[in-house]
Amino acid sequence: MSDVILRLALPSPLRRLFDYRATAAMARQPLTPGMRIRVPFGRREMIGILVEVCATSEVPADKLKPAIALLDPTSPLPPALLKLCLWTAQYYQHSLGDTLSWALPVLLRQGEAAEIRQERFWQVTADARLDDPRIARAPRQREALQTLSQHPHGVAHSLLSKLGLNKDSLDLLLAKELVQLEVRRQRPATRHEHWLAQPELPLNDEQRAAFEAVRSGFGSFHAFLLAGVTGSGKTEVYLQLIRETLEAGKQALVLIPEINLGPQTLARFEQRFNARIALLHSAVNDRERLDAWLAARDGEADIIIGTRSALFTPMKNPGLIIIDEEHDGSYKQQEGLRYHARDLALVRAHQENVPILLGSATPSLESLHNAHTGRYGLLRMNHRAGGAKQPRFLRLDVRSRPLDSGISGPLQQAIGKTLEAGQQVLVFLNRRGFAPTLLCHDCGWMSGCPRCDARMTVHQRSAVLRCHHCGYDERLPLRCPKCAHVDLRPVGAGTERAEERLKVLFPDFPVLRVDRDSTSRKDAMHNLFTTIQRGQPSILVGTQMLAKGHHFPRVTLVAILDADGGLFSGDFRASERMAQLIVQVAGRAGRAEEPGKVIVQTHLAEHPLLVQLTEEGYFAFAEQALSERRGAGLPPFAHLALLRAEAHKPGQAEGFLDEACSAAERLLAEQGGQGIELLGPVPAPMERRAGRFRAQLLLQASARAPLHRLISAWLLELEQMPSGRQVRWSLDVDPVDLY
Ligand code: ADP
Ligand code: ZN
Ligand code: ZN
Repeated sequence: MSDVILRLALPSPLRRLFDYRATAAMARQPLTPGMRIRVPFGRREMIGILVEVCATSEVPADKLKPAIALLDPTSPLPPALLKLCLWTAQYYQHSLGDTLSWALPVLLRQGEAAEIRQERFWQVTADARLDDPRIARAPRQREALQTLSQHPHGVAHSLLSKLGLNKDSLDLLLAKELVQLEVRRQRPATRHEHWLAQPELPLNDEQRAAFEAVRSGFGSFHAFLLAGVTGSGKTEVYLQLIRETLEAGKQALVLIPEINLGPQTLARFEQRFNARIALLHSAVNDRERLDAWLAARDGEADIIIGTRSALFTPMKNPGLIIIDEEHDGSYKQQEGLRYHARDLALVRAHQENVPILLGSATPSLESLHNAHTGRYGLLRMNHRAGGAKQPRFLRLDVRSRPLDSGISGPLQQAIGKTLEAGQQVLVFLNRRGFAPTLLCHDCGWMSGCPRCDARMTVHQRSAVLRCHHCGYDERLPLRCPKCAHVDLRPVGAGTERAEERLKVLFPDFPVLRVDRDSTSRKDAMHNLFTTIQRGQPSILVGTQMLAKGHHFPRVTLVAILDADGGLFSGDFRASERMAQLIVQVAGRAGRAEEPGKVIVQTHLAEHPLLVQLTEEGYFAFAEQALSERRGAGLPPFAHLALLRAEAHKPGQAEGFLDEACSAAERLLAEQGGQGIELLGPVPAPMERRAGRFRAQLLLQASARAPLHRLISAWLLELEQMPSGRQVRWSLDVDPVDLY
């Protein structure tokens, strides 16, 4: 009998597939791509995904190892998902096996059965009676029977203690056949007839136009960019389009940024629909994730909501994909498989032939460009729903004004007035901690991180210096480590310092801080929002966690303490990000009856980008920024790939990149590739980070195809380069951050 060769994707960084021989028993099974197979690999075992079945292999027959076990009777991966993963691996030039590792739920990769978990349910039997004489003198059993009888569909075993049910009593009742145990799926797989749990808001004209445009695209691939100012009612448009999708018997996939996972966002979906919602985000445990994934795959979830990686959730009847806050940075993965979930969502919508809606008040320049060139239908909503006005901007020039913990005199007055008027204030500062640096006033020592080219931040309350780049921390010194004098001063202000100062300045009002340090406890964020929603005058101080998606009806003043960072930075995307952040934070102001005001503290009050943004709005800014990008030959008018390398010894990373650069030049000459520039290698903007020296080589191309032709040949060479073994390197296709 001739061999049956199994060609597998294994969780390895190597960009190739691995061949194994099927055992005789396996060869008799119907083998389809996507099945999981356990195989030997070196001295270990691994689980691979079957990509194809072949008759021959390039591996000599005596080197070909037999597979160990077939884990699935049929493929757990629908062909559409496998296709998406293949495309992803190809586009991002990443190993298929590792791509699948990122795309699939952990438990599936570990070999867990691809079936929704079964649970034991306790249930009262049909003829059980509370006055059964056998339990007349057993009060606890009677009580248990009483409780259980209130749950005619049964109680899951895992929930017994929550209901105060005692396992021993139930066992005794079971022996008397007064209760029974049933093993079944957790959620009954019924589909609702009435989707709406809550009435819909009547759409205004702008909303209706957007809604109709997308609805008329149902049934096939169409891409739309919903550019609606903050508070214009984008979410209401999403909700009504989802209802249409459900009514058509289809599923909707909604991606949201990591930071928007607040209870508010999810609650709006859960309150609106009688639908089975599958959640996939970082707070969901591995088992729940697998169950949600399986439910979506089998058509037993109607709405799938999740962060970046939820993009890889299979759907039985896909009908609509929505990307909320499409400009958000968290859609780009910054490690391993460096994919962009928004970009892949477009590919997926195309492959599955469904419409996709990207929504944002501050669209990325990439998406705006796609709208200009006609790839996306552009839907604009320029007015706030419910009649609230757009906030007014005021640039506050703080040159030669003393800053008191980051807060200028005129700003203090404005905050005071707002509080006196019974309203709330939001103070935004994108810097955690007390102060970004500790300085010795005697010798000039500064709190540098021993592992990075960066300063350690002062965290006063926990009395540590902490590096926000590598996480290294140490006790806050009482004396200068260099000259031993005690005159150590924190320089600059972070949220902790602003909070402390505001508490002193406004002792009669609550000051609430929202950042990663203050909300690391599980319910902290929720408690905070409940306090804010109560509406009494108060001050909120926080980082970008405050910026997005939240609705604070009583906030009428937004203060941006420092807008200058984005205007100085060397990163070409910095001004775009700053503009998005300012507009998003500003969007928290005056969302109800009272009009909102935004005060922007800056040392660059006349900077043209800042003037344009605050006077003409985001879209005018974006047009200006786009024309600058066009002039400079930067994305979206060019395509980038970034080869990064890092090593423990200085010079090693550059050594590797030098060799890589020569190889690329040679390949370019061979391929006759036009319009590709190699920039570098150069040290990374922060050369040393977490104890490693970093460098990078940027590839800039006017067209995508030659760039991809180059890098696919190039990477095979890089994998073989001896100098590459001494460094950690990675290629980032369409990098977002150039560090
Ligand atoms: P966005 O997502 O664009 O920031 P939201 O969907 O959060 O805006 O809507 C902002 C506010 O306007 C919400 O309080 C919402 O309930 C309200 N709203 C939305 N659409 C309407 C409408 N058609 N009529 C009245 N109020 C609306
Ligand atoms: Zn000193
Ligand atoms: Zn560090």
